[in-house]
Amino acid sequence: MSEQTEKTEILKKYFGHDSFRPGQDTLVNALLSGRDVLGVMPTGAGKSLCYQVPAMVKPGVTLVVSPLISLMKDQVSALVQAGVPAAFLNSTLSPRQMDLAMERAREGRYRLIYVAPERLSAPSFQAFAQAAPIQLIAVDEAHCVSQWGQDFRPDYLKIADFVEALPKRPPVGAFTATATQRVREDIVRLLRLRDPVSVTTGFDRENLFFEVLTPKNRFGALVRLLRRFADRSGIVYCSARKTVESVAQKLCADGFSAVRYHAGLSEEERRRAQEDFQFDRAQVMVATNAFGMGIDKSNVGFVIHYNMPRSIEAYYQEAGRAGRDGEEADCVLLYSRQDIMAARWMMDHSEPNPDLSEEERRSVRRGDLDRLNRMIRYCETQSCLRAELLSYFGQRAGKSCGFCANCIGHRYADAQNALAAETKPVKKAPAPEECPPEMEDLLIRLKARRLSMARDMNVPPYVIFDDKTLRGIAASAPTTREQLLQIRGMGEYKAARYGEDILSVVRDFLRIHPELEDRE
Ligand code: ADP
Ligand code: MG
Repeated sequence: MSEQTEKTEILKKYFGHDSFRPGQDTLVNALLSGRDVLGVMPTGAGKSLCYQVPAMVKPGVTLVVSPLISLMKDQVSALVQAGVPAAFLNSTLSPRQMDLAMERAREGRYRLIYVAPERLSAPSFQAFAQAAPIQLIAVDEAHCVSQWGQDFRPDYLKIADFVEALPKRPPVGAFTATATQRVREDIVRLLRLRDPVSVTTGFDRENLFFEVLTPKNRFGALVRLLRRFADRSGIVYCSARKTVESVAQKLCADGFSAVRYHAGLSEEERRRAQEDFQFDRAQVMVATNAFGMGIDKSNVGFVIHYNMPRSIEAYYQEAGRAGRDGEEADCVLLYSRQDIMAARWMMDHSEPNPDLSEEERRSVRRGDLDRLNRMIRYCETQSCLRAELLSYFGQRAGKSCGFCANCIGHRYADAQNALAAETKPVKKAPAPEECPPEMEDLLIRLKARRLSMARDMNVPPYVIFDDKTLRGIAASAPTTREQLLQIRGMGEYKAARYGEDILSVVRDFLRIHPELEDRE
């Protein structure tokens, strides 16, 4: 089979998608032909597939360097669920588990191995890497190599040496959502990419609705929003740890199912909060920006900013965690002029980077102020919010996007006028249109079955099927495996593994509702 047909078959078979999104195809082809690549795409655009598909097409193992240990487990379980042999190596494994994983890796049992950058210099890993048929190296969140990015990780600077010390240098793919020119140049220079094929896709996320509110009472506004979003899961970002504490506490007292996350909590507390959120045991995650980079939960239906972030880059990355499954999602920023004072204060009181000269520090500060001013402009503009965001990333946009509060009017103006005593019952968010009302009961049954599968397997429910796939099943009520395979997100492996279970739920439902059997 040619690589061309093979990659589309792999896309369908393991990942359940019919076609590549813009940019993915070019990057996959380049990697398959042995070129280095730089992929710059917004959060949620689908960077992972760009290296996961080549990992499955070519023989050998793909190393994925990823900065966040907490994410690796999730990404790897999603792959394993899809039938892709993958593993991670990081400090959460016990020495025994590590030995076992390394042994299996040596036996060639994994196609993808996720590693934290600090692992690259461990002697046991070095020994493995020297002997293993490494065919591709993917550097995820590649902006971590740059001091100008927001999440500088010195260990990323060692990646280039690691790659060059391999017996045969494999192609290197670098992926990031950070689009600024300076960071891009740093990535190419510091990872020592060789004549990379570079793809920067459009930064628009069409399914995200943007709104800025200036509420008199922030907490009241938040409560109103959360009531409107009652059937979705989402994130509330606050700028300070103590705000996270008080907001989470008040929400729980008001009967919301909320958990909290910030860097001041123990690792165990953070892990538990993240799991509760990812497993849909908690509806709302209240967090500082410590909760973040690369969070892969696909069914985040809203991101509310309780405070103004310090840059559009940070805002777009955080807001972009909503709607990865392609469903409509809301990004609401609660803004007050006090946020400006708070942001300036934080800037003045942050630890200066000791590696920078006085002149460099001054220029960093100027950069910070510029970024803050652009953020303020976003909060105060009367014109299209999307255009304001996209122009920051150097992308031209029309005057009106038709899908933000400034273009089509406020959706959540009621929250703006909220007071902290809230008694009025608020309308629930409308049911998603793809699942017709008469099929809602089937959707509920499917969700219950998914939850019990997820519990049995100890993985988050969306790792088995995302919400959109489940709605697709509910809407079309397939009764055969062929029909099931038509549904977006349904790969062959998953159909083989869960198909019978799903079809039996549908059949049971149709037995009670025979009138729905021959719809269309
Ligand atoms: P990123 O790393 O760029 O933030 P991810 O790799 O996590 O994005 O992918 C985001 C979502 O997009 C995932 O839910 C994934 O299943 C979906 N996705 C990726 N590529 C495609 C595709 N070609 N067709 C449909 N959905 C896709
Ligand atoms: Mg990613």
